[in-house]
Amino acid sequence: MQLQIAVVESSAIGQKILKKILEDRGYLAKYFTSAMDALDYLQSEENPVILLTSFETDGMHGLDLVWQSRLLAGGTRALYIIAMSSSTELSKAIEALDCGADDFIRKPPVAEELYAKMRSAQKMLSAQQELRFYATRDPLTKLRNRRCFMEEVGKLPGGMDSCLLILDIDHFKSVNDTYGHQAGDMALVATATKLKDQNIGLVSRLGGEEFAIYLHDTPEALGLRAAERFREAVQQIEVDFQGKKIKFTVSIGLAFKPAEVAFNIDELYGYADEALYRAKESGRNRVCIGKRAGSKPVKLELRSA
Ligand code: GH3
Ligand code: MG
Ligand code: MG
Repeated sequence: MQLQIAVVESSAIGQKILKKILEDRGYLAKYFTSAMDALDYLQSEENPVILLTSFETDGMHGLDLVWQSRLLAGGTRALYIIAMSSSTELSKAIEALDCGADDFIRKPPVAEELYAKMRSAQKMLSAQQELRFYATRDPLTKLRNRRCFMEEVGKLPGGMDSCLLILDIDHFKSVNDTYGHQAGDMALVATATKLKDQNIGLVSRLGGEEFAIYLHDTPEALGLRAAERFREAVQQIEVDFQGKKIKFTVSIGLAFKPAEVAFNIDELYGYADEALYRAKESGRNRVCIGKRAGSKPVKLELRSA
């Protein structure tokens, strides 16, 4: 992720001073005079941002910009705010920090002081990024963890065909029992890499030796083809462990949601899981298709004699 810097300052001379200081150390920034433009930019930017904002901005008070930016970033976006004011009053700095700024600097800034503050902003943002990474990823395979997967899938636009695949490595316990836990871990990493390398869908490690792949905007027939491709890809894996080649297979359950049916991850997951169970029961190393989401439950009719 590329760190971005946004500077908000309504005075042309103020902007020029900041630009000179920042560029002297190779900091490239985007410059705004209007707070609204800066907010629009923040809304569209996905990378971590250092926002350097003056109290005096066009269209909105700098403190409101601090407040709104903080709201916009919420708990998930990496944003570090340095508020700037020409006032020497301590109360100004306190106000800025209370509104959600991380730091405060007097205007015009002293170059070395600004650089030191930029360095601590960078440190803080990269620590935040790292924390976020490990909160959303499985540490072994680096795939999305279950929570992150469910969240990301839930945010996708509705009204489209989609498929959920659940994959489970066959007889994985015997890989561990025969070669040891370390070999098992290598098999999990090799599986994750292989699944990612297919470049289809959102891939996750749900836990243990179970993976999920969500195929957005994908009709059932294509989902089935993709599932077969994943199954065959795993079958090709050979894990090299202490001179031995370890091979294994996966069983896959597929559940399909037609475009007109409202998305319900629990329903889809339940159907894919049922299908996975059937794939296991019927011999493993195969794909089974589950019930379609939104399909009506079968009614049992009692007939009188
Ligand atoms: P099935 O074909 O029915 O799925 O059989 P299985 O042996 O794959 O299933 P089972 O649930 O009996 O065993 C799963 C094993 O996965 C047991 C557990 O020790 C192992 N496992 C889970 N997480 C990890 C992990 O992170 N690393 C390693 N090496 N093993 C793991
Ligand atoms: Mg298994
Ligand atoms: Mg399992």
